[in-house]
Amino acid sequence: MNETLDFVIVGAGSAGSVLASRLSEDGKHRVGLFESGPSDRQWIVDTPFGIVAMLPRALNNWAYTTAPQKGLNGRRGFQPRGRVLGGSSSINAMVYVRGHPADYDDWASLGNPGWAWQDVLPYFIKSENNQDFNGPLHGTSGPLNVARLRTDNAMHEVFLNAARESGFAINPDFNGTTQEGIGIYQVTQKDGERWSASRAYLRAHIGKRPNLEVAIKTDVLRILFAGKRAIGIEVRREGKLCQVFARKEVIVCAGAFGSPKLLLLSGIGARRELNRHGIAPVAELEGVGRNLQDHPDFIFAYRASHPGLFGLSLPGLWGLARSLRQYQRTRRGMLCTNFAEGGGFIKRSSQSQRPDFQLHFCISVVDDHARRLHAGAGFSCHVCLLRPKSRGTVTLSGPDPGLAPTIDPNFLGEEEDVLAMIDAFKATRRLLAAPSLQALVQRDLYTQGVSDDASIRALLRQRVDTVYHPVGTCKMGNDAEAVVSAELRVHGIENLRVVDASIMPTLIGGNTNAPTIMIAEKAADMILAAAGAQAP
Ligand SMILES: Cc1cc2nc3c(=O)[nH]c(=O)nc-3n(C[C@H](O)[C@H](O)[C@H](O)COP(=O)(O)OP(=O)(O)OC[C@H]3O[C@@H](n4cnc5c(N)ncnc54)[C@H](O)[C@@H]3O)c2cc1C
Repeated sequence: MNETLDFVIVGAGSAGSVLASRLSEDGKHRVGLFESGPSDRQWIVDTPFGIVAMLPRALNNWAYTTAPQKGLNGRRGFQPRGRVLGGSSSINAMVYVRGHPADYDDWASLGNPGWAWQDVLPYFIKSENNQDFNGPLHGTSGPLNVARLRTDNAMHEVFLNAARESGFAINPDFNGTTQEGIGIYQVTQKDGERWSASRAYLRAHIGKRPNLEVAIKTDVLRILFAGKRAIGIEVRREGKLCQVFARKEVIVCAGAFGSPKLLLLSGIGARRELNRHGIAPVAELEGVGRNLQDHPDFIFAYRASHPGLFGLSLPGLWGLARSLRQYQRTRRGMLCTNFAEGGGFIKRSSQSQRPDFQLHFCISVVDDHARRLHAGAGFSCHVCLLRPKSRGTVTLSGPDPGLAPTIDPNFLGEEEDVLAMIDAFKATRRLLAAPSLQALVQRDLYTQGVSDDASIRALLRQRVDTVYHPVGTCKMGNDAEAVVSAELRVHGIENLRVVDASIMPTLIGGNTNAPTIMIAEKAADMILAAAGAQAP
């Protein structure tokens, strides 16, 4: 602490882990990575089943609550985010999906050269070690291990049969030539263990690379400036305040909530927001914390009986104990589950150019982010809207860095999103009504008798919440709301970049971990190229 490094990275999540690894790789630069959470060397992190313990509470998790949502009858939503090495990739559901190629072409057409599908595909491939698929669309030698689930769960075939019965195509690879269809997800796991961004990129180098310092349990309070140039950060560790300086760059990777919060606390944001909290402005950027986009999600839930379903019951707990022994021996079985084992991408109509909805089929009743437990086994199926129109905000709750930000996703704020979710509900129900699944059902927990548009609408307002993909709050671009350029440099400030999910100008059609890792891989190349071009 109180030292000077070449690169100072804030946040060791999906993006920060990649950057710390890539920027320290050639040994030429001194890199410091500063993370608020603890080490990820924890059984609960490495064992996929551990998600059920971390998701609902503040265990390696910031566990944020949103502002009351007008579109959700004034309810407050829940927003889990990783607070541990690996960030959200250490607590997420491990589904490996890149999104639709056209999503990235959209980014480029919004004024971001270098971010079209053909530009970003090489970085997806560079990061990936796919154990099941190869060919021009897949990487087989990257750090991020991607594999089939090792749960050997007979429910997979039941789910796929239900898809066939209801006329959906089966898709074995959502990252292949087509995204549409129903299938079993590949996951970021290796040999049955979670393969977070930290596990993939960082863990092996901690304490081994002399030019890489990783500080855990260290809160970054603000960015330090000399005029309009970022020169370092102020941190608090074990109650002590210190400053760390960056010879080359400060790179903010604090995530879709943490990054706008840190910029605002450091004086970068809309003048009225800074004034409101008595923060001296360094740069006026209207867009900091604006443009929040997240996938609104509805969950169907059923009490049901099948040996592949998990639930709170004596047989369920006995099965879990047996699975524990199996996992210890073979790293296979129930403890490898990510719960959202199956899913898929469906179009709203034949006119759609790309899928509009995504499903996550869970092998248990996942209700209210696993905060509401049900006795007995069952299954549930999430359906989310991939490109919602609603836009939300992240603002400061006050000038104290210890305060959680005020998160307002504005779910179902736009009528168009409600109409799309009604169609999403109907399409999902068509799949869930298939004989293979209905043969297992004992009780429909929430959707019994809900069939006309008015009652679907009312139920959506009662039950929709996040499926954990907030992005866009430091968006890339060159319009009035843009925060970073296509090189991810903060507009109007030297030596400062934001690299994480917050830079996405629009939400991609899929899960956001692999895309965030891609962003960081690409950023590492840009940062190293700029450092190479600088005079020593
Ligand atoms: C429960 C859950 C399930 C998900 N499931 C999936 C899935 O199955 N597949 C998928 O692709 N995506 C999934 N996601 C989304 C995906 O994991 C995230 O989009 C991705 O990890 C975001 O990466 P990031 O680098 O932007 O932020 P994060 O990974 O959240 O990293 C930000 C890091 O910064 C740290 N930080 C923040 N502020 C400070 C500060 N002031 N000082 C120091 N450190 C700070 C945080 O502690 C954190 O470690 C899920 C997310 C969650 C929460």
